[in-house]
Amino acid sequence: MNQTKRRYNFNPGPAALPLGVLEEAQQQFVDYEGKGISLLEMSHRSKTVEELNHETQLLLLSLLNLPKGYEVLFMGGGASTQFALLPMNFLRPQLTANYALTGSFAEKAYKEAAYLGRTHVVASSKEQGYRGIPAWDAPDLSPNAAYVHITMNNTIEGSRYAEIPEVGDIPLVGDMTSEILSRKLDLAKFSMIYAGAQKNLGPAGVTVVVIRESWLEQASSEIPEIMRYSTFAKNNSLFNTPPVHAIYMTNLVLKWTQKQGGVEQLERHNLAKSDLLYEVIDASGGFYQGMIDAKDRSPMNITWRMANEELERRFIAESETHGFEGLAGHRSVGGLRASAYNAVPLEACRALAEFMLDFARRNG
Ligand SMILES: *Cc1c(COP(=O)(O)O)cnc(C)c1O
Repeated sequence: MNQTKRRYNFNPGPAALPLGVLEEAQQQFVDYEGKGISLLEMSHRSKTVEELNHETQLLLLSLLNLPKGYEVLFMGGGASTQFALLPMNFLRPQLTANYALTGSFAEKAYKEAAYLGRTHVVASSKEQGYRGIPAWDAPDLSPNAAYVHITMNNTIEGSRYAEIPEVGDIPLVGDMTSEILSRKLDLAKFSMIYAGAQKNLGPAGVTVVVIRESWLEQASSEIPEIMRYSTFAKNNSLFNTPPVHAIYMTNLVLKWTQKQGGVEQLERHNLAKSDLLYEVIDASGGFYQGMIDAKDRSPMNITWRMANEELERRFIAESETHGFEGLAGHRSVGGLRASAYNAVPLEACRALAEFMLDFARRNG
């Protein structure tokens, strides 16, 4: 494998995977563990796949450091499908779903719930152009709340909750797609978290749902079986054909995560990476302008603007010829974005910081 051809990958998702994981999967691709067939050709009812499925669930639970009483589900449809499944399962007619609006994915989740029942905005930074996370000192929770939904890391804007907000006895649900396993958090505060795999966990195709069993018992059984979390729980996520190969890749990424020293080490690593970039932004005298209030900045998605779009376009074009990938901001907000998920090495961030300094010198 010619490693020199690998680019510095800052794609927002699907995102960088550890090179060792790609190579391992490549090696196993045609003949999976000496079985004489590819995993892609194997029945999901086979012992091999059942074991893989089970092992991956246990690995994830252990890395998330959750107490007993949580189930891991492997589902399809991406994180966006969870926007609809959550209210289908838990938003009863007499209840209200509470949403915190902190970015465009949070807004999408809220809009999907509004098709299904009563919703309420508990906190919002929309008026501030999603420059940060709204204060939670006095959350405006509705009575008869079904749950509170938050987006822990706002991938498009580049903000994240410094701490998990307090919501009392109301079930808390978190979209953790762009930050799962990136920092130490007391996840037992959540009744459910979910994440599309393609940012910190593996390839697109599998979505991880981790749900508290006692809450799962309250889920609706008046919706089609395939939409029920309980169906996936009862059948160990093998009710229908799961995305087997994506689960396998996730398994490899979880083992890689363990080898890095787990969440604690990765958190340190991620802060070192994002600090390199935020330091360049802050010391640039306004050449690079961070999009997010400093206290709410995400270590996963680092966003900034420059004086005008022409300069931003030049930055992107030059970065591409220097071996960088994926630095354009999301089309809805513009600017620049470097997504430095778990698998992005420190070296890539160091190279980007140097490129940014050099570009500022030449164009400032
Ligand atoms: C990427 C992302 C999504 C959308 O994920 P899909 O799997 O494409 O549906 C939702 N929420 C957050 C926070 C994300 O980062």
